[in-house]
Order: sequence, then C-alpha cells, then structure tokens
Amino acid sequence: MSGVDVSVERARRIAVQRLESLSRAGVTQLRRGHPAIDSPATAKPQEVAAVAGAQHETPTPMTKTPSNKQSALSIIQQEVAACIRCQELADSRTQTVFGVGNPDARLCFFGEAPGADEDRQGEPFVGRAGKLLTDIIKKGMGLERSDIYILNVLKCRPPGNRNPSPDEAGNCREYFERQIETIDPEFICCLGSIAAHTLLETNIAVGKLRGKIHDYRGRKVVVTYHPAYLLRNPSAKKHTWDDIQILMREMGLPVP
Ligand code: SF4
Repeated sequence: MSGVDVSVERARRIAVQRLESLSRAGVTQLRRGHPAIDSPATAKPQEVAAVAGAQHETPTPMTKTPSNKQSALSIIQQEVAACIRCQELADSRTQTVFGVGNPDARLCFFGEAPGADEDRQGEPFVGRAGKLLTDIIKKGMGLERSDIYILNVLKCRPPGNRNPSPDEAGNCREYFERQIETIDPEFICCLGSIAAHTLLETNIAVGKLRGKIHDYRGRKVVVTYHPAYLLRNPSAKKHTWDDIQILMREMGLPVP
C-alpha cells in the first residue's frame, strides 16, 4: 500500500469511527467544518465526508446544550481511554486523564500533561500545582473549579514527568481540539510553554506571549506560567496575577 493509500485508509477509519460515535450519541447531521470531520490531525473534510458517505451540502449547526456537550465529551473520553497512539505512554500510564469541569464553561484552563498524582487519580491538576491552580480560580478569580473546565495537551503521563515530545503532542492534538470545540469556551488560559506553544502553534517564549490577548479559532487566549513553575519560582506569581487580571477584565469579572 502506498503512503497516499495509507493516509486515505486511516482517514476513512477515523471518519467511520467518529460518525458511528456521533450516531450513538443521537447526532444525525453535521455541518461542513464540524470538528468531528474537520481535524488537521486527520484528513480534509471533503475527503472524510466522501469516504464516510456523508453528503451534507446544507449547513446544519448542531445545537450545543450542556447535556449534548457532555455526551460528546463522553464519547471522546472513551476513545482516549482506548488510545495507544503513543506506545510508551500507553504502556506506562495508570489511566488516561481526560479533563474535568463544566462542559458549558466560558473558560478552559489548558495545561501540559498529567503528573504522578493526576495519573493516579485520573483528574488533571490535583497535586501541589493543582492546589495552586485551585487557589488562583477560587481566591484570585472568585470562581469554583466546577465553573470552569481543565484539560491538558496530553492525556497520558510522560514517564518521569518529562516534557511531551512533538510527536506525542501531535498525536493527542485531535483530542484536545475536539474537547475545546465541544465545550466551545469564550476564553482559554494556557498554563506554561508546552500548552501555549501547542495551542497557538508558535515557539515564542511565554514571557513574550504574556500580557496579550491571542486568538484560537475565535476564542480569546491568555498565556501565563504553569503552576508547577510558580511553585519553583514564587517571584513569578505576581506576573501570573497580572495575567489573571487581564483575563478577568476580558471576562467581565470584578477585579479586586
Ligand atoms: S497521550 Fe494522547 S495520543 Fe498519546 S496515547 Fe495518550 S491519549 Fe493517545
């Protein structure tokens, strides 16, 4: 089989898998460009629609309600739980760490990858860095963790907490893109360089990305330091507080 044939076959398999999943969730129509069929990690939408037999010329937006968002997230979560795209991570993980929070959140916090605590508990940001993030959300922003949604670039813990490789981030990209498209937040806060570089597809240092509003597919993105970095460098906390205040003003939240 040629390289082109392999790509088409892979796109066909992914398209069929996604359409079957959406069908099980009760979704019967997709608009062109819907994330279920339009992912840079897979194939062009017209290729996917063609191989899957999906012919929808009339745009038919799927109504996003909290309950069908939760259904769509559950389907992605099941796919993630079975994923073995990164063999090393799949072999060493205790479990996948999908994401947690309000499926209808206005704000997503986007981190790097699970650590040891997260791998053990199956939830992102539950260790010391997680406690600091909770303080930022509750004491800093006056919100609850249940108001927002938290997810990572990678759903599996890299052994020894090493940085995710570009291949691993690319493998997992489809999942976080679909999570974000499903939740459809107005705001995303990237925590640290891996999250910012992966989402915004840039190599600019976090120090230069901070203090500005960026765009990710029509959503406002703020970049700040990862809570684990703040634990190692407490003097940077004041910079993160500046970033969070920018975010709060954009969100219309009262800034103390
Ligand atoms: S990190 Fe993502 S792509 Fe890699 S094995 Fe885990 S779920 Fe799959």
